[in-house]
Amino acid sequence: MKYISTRGAPAQKEFTDVLLEGLAPDGGLYVPVNFPKIDAGFLNDMQGKPYYDVAFHIIRLFATPSIPESDLQDILKKIYTRNEDRFPKDEVTPLVNLSDGFHILELFHGPTLAFKDVALQLLGELFDYILKKRNEKITIIGATSGDTGSAAIEGVKHCDNARIFILHPHNRTSQVQRRQMTTVLADNVYNIAIEGSFDDCQNIVKKLFGHNDFREKHNLSAVNSINWARIIAQTVYYVYAYLKIGKPLNFAVPTGNFGNVYAAYIARQIGVPINDLVIGSNRNDILTRFFKTGIMTVTDVEPSLSPSMDIQISSNLERYLFDLFDRDSDQLNAFMTDFKKTGTASIDNESLAKAQAIFSAYRCDDDMTLETIRTIESQYNYLCDPHTAVGVSAAIQHRKHRGDSRDSMVALACAHPAKFPDAIEKAVNHRPDLPYRLQDLYDRKERYTVLPADSQRVREFIENA
Ligand SMILES: *Cc1c(COP(=O)(O)O)cnc(C)c1O
Repeated sequence: MKYISTRGAPAQKEFTDVLLEGLAPDGGLYVPVNFPKIDAGFLNDMQGKPYYDVAFHIIRLFATPSIPESDLQDILKKIYTRNEDRFPKDEVTPLVNLSDGFHILELFHGPTLAFKDVALQLLGELFDYILKKRNEKITIIGATSGDTGSAAIEGVKHCDNARIFILHPHNRTSQVQRRQMTTVLADNVYNIAIEGSFDDCQNIVKKLFGHNDFREKHNLSAVNSINWARIIAQTVYYVYAYLKIGKPLNFAVPTGNFGNVYAAYIARQIGVPINDLVIGSNRNDILTRFFKTGIMTVTDVEPSLSPSMDIQISSNLERYLFDLFDRDSDQLNAFMTDFKKTGTASIDNESLAKAQAIFSAYRCDDDMTLETIRTIESQYNYLCDPHTAVGVSAAIQHRKHRGDSRDSMVALACAHPAKFPDAIEKAVNHRPDLPYRLQDLYDRKERYTVLPADSQRVREFIENA
């Protein structure tokens, strides 16, 4: 499979290049030149196969020949076979049945108890595989407000050829969040607590990437949510859920950067019998407004009970827009330029109808989030984290709106409730039990360095590390 940029640069790239580069040089996002198709026979053959094997049959379509099949198979087996260090359950992503035709796909059984582990565990291993082959080393730098940082650290800590530096705002993450990062004592992991805000952390990272000599000398890289390999790793669990249910279904996905639901769209595009993709957004509802009206307008971000979805712009939406515009980069560029200049951009009615034939979007504010956590606990004795609740609420709203519940609905559980104990307590008056993985978190040794919000000091730290 070859890849092109959504912004129209003529070069075609290999999977391994796309993996290491992340963003395309013209500022666009990489997408495959076409979508491979699978058929009913293919799906039939995969019935009952273990997760790593399903992963192999899907990812192979996108990663070969740039990664040879046998190597890919070894890597996937290593990551997605039951393993205390990575995914300790019998299944990587268990499907829980709440009621007739309503299911929860649990994506939170990885090391940091959130769905990002499913992709980042693989990404770290793929990085190391390619870097060793090329005899290269990289330095990964990222800023985090809490969650992505720990998933990236857990993904990279086994790598011999990558170092990772994660900046978090000093004393502004939760204790659990900080300790999930700072108690990883691997030699290639560096946690930096910046005396400032998350924005300060992000600005420092941007400055470091903008420093050409430094960037080249250390082979800087990022593991952000636009990396194509993360998307395709996530497509696997949609296929896996379909195989368990065995008939056409809908997915409800709590959405921030549009990465997770775009992975579902890929599953649909390659031929998995998926009907509706239901998007849930919190009070920061730019996506819901877009899919309802065809107008995308930026607003300020307000903090919510589902912080991993508190975003202003959904970066992966660009990949879907590219398809919506029949892969016309000029039209996409015009849309993006409009949006950047004026903070608003729109699509025509025909395109909107096309988008709405696949995506439905619903908003779920903090009150509704708490209400949903309460209802699902009392009706089904199942505890949802606040992100999961946003998706579940969207699923319920969708069924009401459509007036039928014939299709099976799978709502994605994106984080373990124990990651958000305050919100859970607010909803149901008790705090969730810490899973065994985190039980000794407060006894573990921490290691991190506190630095001022000054990019030069951070650069010196990295130089001397
Ligand atoms: C990242 C994240 C999301 C949002 O996913 P996107 O791929 O950005 O749409 C939702 N819930 C949790 C718990 C997350 O960590």
